[in-house]
Amino acid sequence: MRIPFIAGNWKMFKTKAEAIAFAEEFRELYKDTDVQTAICAPFTNLEALKEAFAGTEIKVGAQNVHFADEGAFTGEISVSMLEEIGVDFCIVGHSERRQYFGETDETVNKKLKKLFEGPIRPILCVGESLEERDADKAFDVVGGQIKADLEGIDAADVKKLVIAYEPIWAIGTGRTATPDQAEEMCAFIRKTLIELYGEEVSDEVIIQYGGSVKPANATEIMNMDEIDGALVGGASLKPKDFMEIIDF
Ligand code: 13P
Repeated sequence: MRIPFIAGNWKMFKTKAEAIAFAEEFRELYKDTDVQTAICAPFTNLEALKEAFAGTEIKVGAQNVHFADEGAFTGEISVSMLEEIGVDFCIVGHSERRQYFGETDETVNKKLKKLFEGPIRPILCVGESLEERDADKAFDVVGGQIKADLEGIDAADVKKLVIAYEPIWAIGTGRTATPDQAEEMCAFIRKTLIELYGEEVSDEVIIQYGGSVKPANATEIMNMDEIDGALVGGASLKPKDFMEIIDF
């Protein structure tokens, strides 16, 4: 049984003071639902958010991590640094990191392997560009990302994985994939996982949709059979909007 999972991705928004103000307001609004909730925030906010959400069901995630244990990697953060402050999730391979920061399927694969050594659950992002969709390559691209990103990863670990399908053309554009387009790709991702790991393992993997999810379209998206959750950018920055999405 998969529990619906809705996570916010704050990207490079909110100072620590702003994060604490959000958390105070969000805790007031938050109602226990059957949905698992997390906020993936900038590194500088993670500890404060863990404290602010202590005693609630609200989880905290990072947006990136390095794959090495430690070393001369200026500006990077290791898995053990995140574990020490009790981070629950970590986004890996977001399209903005692939596009602007040189993330590749190879580095994504190394990051997933490193995270799977400990308790932090990765949220693996995949998705095609508009050119790729228009050229009828969306399924090849996403299937290829999944196979490359999960190369050499054990079935037992894959059970803890969350995959977010985020078509690049729907991120921050206001142009949501239609529920049918999102459903079709999430079904394809599940089918790819079945091919790679079998039905029993694939059944455990949470598959989210991300890209212009907002209160007005959350119900329709969350009611699709193949979609288990959402990864929400812009609309997760306001406590009221994010709560409305969780309470879809
Ligand atoms: P928006 O919800 O702002 O389109 O962002 C989606 C996203 O990239 C979440 O990771």
